Amino acid sequence: MKIVILDGYTENPGDLSWEEFEALGEVTVYDRTPKEMIVERIGDAQAVITNKTPMTRQTLDNCPSIRYIGVLATGYNVVDTGAAKEKGIPVTNIPTYGTTAVAQMVFALLLEVCHHVGAHSQAVKDGAWSRNPDWCFWNYPLIELAGKTMGIIGFGRIGQAAGKIAKAFGMEVLSYDQYPNDAGRQIGEYVSLDELYARSDVISLHCPLFPETTGMINKESIAKMKKGVIIINTSRGPLIVEEDLAEALHQGKVYAAACDVVSTEPIRPENPLLGCYNSILTPHIAWAPKESRSRLMDIAAQNLKAFIDGAPVNVVNL
Ligand code: NAD
Repeated sequence: MKIVILDGYTENPGDLSWEEFEALGEVTVYDRTPKEMIVERIGDAQAVITNKTPMTRQTLDNCPSIRYIGVLATGYNVVDTGAAKEKGIPVTNIPTYGTTAVAQMVFALLLEVCHHVGAHSQAVKDGAWSRNPDWCFWNYPLIELAGKTMGIIGFGRIGQAAGKIAKAFGMEVLSYDQYPNDAGRQIGEYVSLDELYARSDVISLHCPLFPETTGMINKESIAKMKKGVIIINTSRGPLIVEEDLAEALHQGKVYAAACDVVSTEPIRPENPLLGCYNSILTPHIAWAPKESRSRLMDIAAQNLKAFIDGAPVNVVNL
């Protein structure tokens, strides 16, 4: 079987191996594939592996040898799954691989807001401590989390994992989810969205991007939050109306926002969050510790092997 990996770089920039795929066929790996080269690079391959490279109906029409599409991610909106279904091509995804890594990143971001470790370390290296008249100094307010309330919107796998860590920090956990479950009740109190906005000192977003969640953090919802709230977003950028958040950050209504995801990625130079002194922005790295990527690689190869063996798993479109 000919296998083409269209954009393998973010999954494996060189610290992992494609050998599990190589055991299944003749593999060609491209770091990235520009749109105009997709059809040519797929050629007569039967299996196509993509992360963010789009697989449109037109591409499927132009590449009749495709029998299988594997997405190297949980979200599979880059593939026209309907068109693939019409042609009987299974599309698979990786349902879960990075829950603990994303939950850990929530706290990397939150602790950065609380302690500004990076900035303080840089200040020390720049000589500010050597020149300081006192035995210590701090350049930002320092925040203790114990006793504070964390509101988690979307209390699924990652939300609940983040909730467990919040509890370990001594925080009270509130959650909002359309589908409450017993595991969630062990971790936090389910409340309405308005109650979560009103009571939370920290709000962390973990619901998927749906039409009804797009733009849910906006002028109106921010108005319902406590003054000085901290907002963390490791889910999807378009959950937030960035202009409204930027204004609230400038006004101090929102004390700080830490986002691993933004509305357009890579971030546009004109993104309003870039201009906020109290925003922390990371380049969509929550999923990317080597351990998570290695897990993702294993599952992606197992997905292809299961297809070859005639018993496909993690199929999202058939
Ligand atoms: P999950 O499906 O386990 O949990 C999502 C939860 O959101 C579910 O409990 C669901 O009931 C709930 N939900 C659905 N609609 C809702 C709504 N309208 N309001 C409130 N809650 C709603 O998913 P997960 O594995 O916990 O992942 C959560 C999100 O994290 C994903 O959608 C993805 O966008 C994001 N993610 C980001 C990274 C990263 O690198 N930053 C990595 C992986 C996942």
